[in-house]
Amino acid sequence: MKPAPLDYVRATSVAHAVQVLADNDGDAKVLAGGQSLVPLLAMRLAQPTVLVDLGSLDELSYVRDEGSHLEIGAMTRTRTVETSQLVAEAVPLLPAALSHVGHVPIRNRGTVGGSTAHADPAAELPAVLRALDANIVVAGPSGSRTIGAADFFEGFLATALAPEEIITALRVPKSARGTRVAVQEFARRHGDFAIVAVFTAVELGANGEIADARIAVAGAGQVPVRASAAEALLSGQEASPTLLRAAAAEVAAATRPLDDIHATADYRKKITAVLARRCLEQALPRAERSSAA
Ligand SMILES: Cc1cc2nc3c(=O)[nH]c(=O)nc-3n(C[C@H](O)[C@H](O)[C@H](O)COP(=O)(O)OP(=O)(O)OC[C@H]3O[C@@H](n4cnc5c(N)ncnc54)[C@H](O)[C@@H]3O)c2cc1C
Repeated sequence: MKPAPLDYVRATSVAHAVQVLADNDGDAKVLAGGQSLVPLLAMRLAQPTVLVDLGSLDELSYVRDEGSHLEIGAMTRTRTVETSQLVAEAVPLLPAALSHVGHVPIRNRGTVGGSTAHADPAAELPAVLRALDANIVVAGPSGSRTIGAADFFEGFLATALAPEEIITALRVPKSARGTRVAVQEFARRHGDFAIVAVFTAVELGANGEIADARIAVAGAGQVPVRASAAEALLSGQEASPTLLRAAAAEVAAATRPLDDIHATADYRKKITAVLARRCLEQALPRAERSSAA
């Protein structure tokens, strides 16, 4: 199929893009890397009357060190973030997660703003933003506002963005030096969207105790799931096989998966527990060794 007829506008500035969206009263859509939107247009699952292309807005493509956090422009390509030395040092969970997004050509075109706005519950980036308490910066007709990831993802492909707003940047808090990260995904084939994926960042205290644990799950609900109860269970504790198993069970308990053509809800919950345990063992290898002993 081909897209329904539409007008194409190449945005010359953020203000211009917002103006076109506002003028078209919900009938215009933003085009970023096109990796999700173009197939939706071709299948006529999305039928905007106007497409506003952000492709010329070089000012939205950057990774900046802002002290306590990194600011990443919305049009920054997924692959740029995945391969950035600055990102690897400041937020190691990002490259670990983004290397699982589709295939390299998709990551070369897809943008972080596009992935965030698309809000696929199986996508890696939204889950990482949720795990790390990132903020999403958006621009609209009345200026700019910042939305926390916990409030941004509202449902399946649904966000807190108003129709006349665009994402301009992501603000991702830096991880403490030495933070250990792990990602475990289960997908049918390499490069497919995960059936379930678990993302972990663990900071150790001076005595080797777990000072801070962040865990999020993709593919196990309508939105990315933050496993707060599991994080609380781990916090302040010495890692042990028993603790990691208990935490993994809490991660699965936090999920609200649905049946779909790829897997049943029950299956997703079961794999969540397995992936969460593996993820924690990967981030805390000493606990795994004592398990084998
Ligand atoms: C074969 C294949 C496999 C894939 N596998 C994965 C995977 O495993 N994991 C994964 O996470 N993704 C996967 N993707 C999706 C890919 O990551 C997309 O790049 C991403 O979801 C959308 O980014 P984009 O820049 O291409 O956005 P587009 O496709 O251009 O836009 C997507 C949506 O976001 C909106 N949008 C885009 N930018 C903005 C903005 N700045 N402000 C407001 N709204 C905006 C658009 O209007 C549209 O509704 C896959 C895609 C393909 C084709």
